[in-house]
Amino acid sequence: MFEDLRDLYQEVIFDHNRNPRNFRVIEDADRKVEGFNPLCGDRLTLYLKMDGDRIADASFQGSGCAISTASVSLMTEIIKDKTEAEAEALFLTFHEMTTGKSEDIQLEAVGKLAVLAGVREYPARVKCATLAWHTLDAALKNQQEAVSTE
Ligand code: ZN
Repeated sequence: MFEDLRDLYQEVIFDHNRNPRNFRVIEDADRKVEGFNPLCGDRLTLYLKMDGDRIADASFQGSGCAISTASVSLMTEIIKDKTEAEAEALFLTFHEMTTGKSEDIQLEAVGKLAVLAGVREYPARVKCATLAWHTLDAALKNQQEAVSTE
């Protein structure tokens, strides 16, 4: 990865950590799932407001490290107005991007999420980045129980 690109990516992560998007409760949420990463201590509650099979609104509460906060903040921005199937496809792409061995991930396909591709070089941080997405996966499958990365 080029150094200037890495700096840009870090800037986006810092920005979302300092200033998380959609950090609020959705009082009339249709889906509400808690996620926990015991390895790092990241905790979040994800809220989804559905309109048919479309995600009309997404928000979160909780506290965690910079990577987990930036990841869930970016995710709530990106999944809004996506259908359940589109969100599930993004989850699979994101998972492959952060944990896969493939070098030819279509970074353009994931948009701003590409800023988190760098965590694959830091195995201890992968769960910080994927916690939000595993929690989303549970919410899309309408599971109620809390998600743990362990
Ligand atoms: Zn973390």
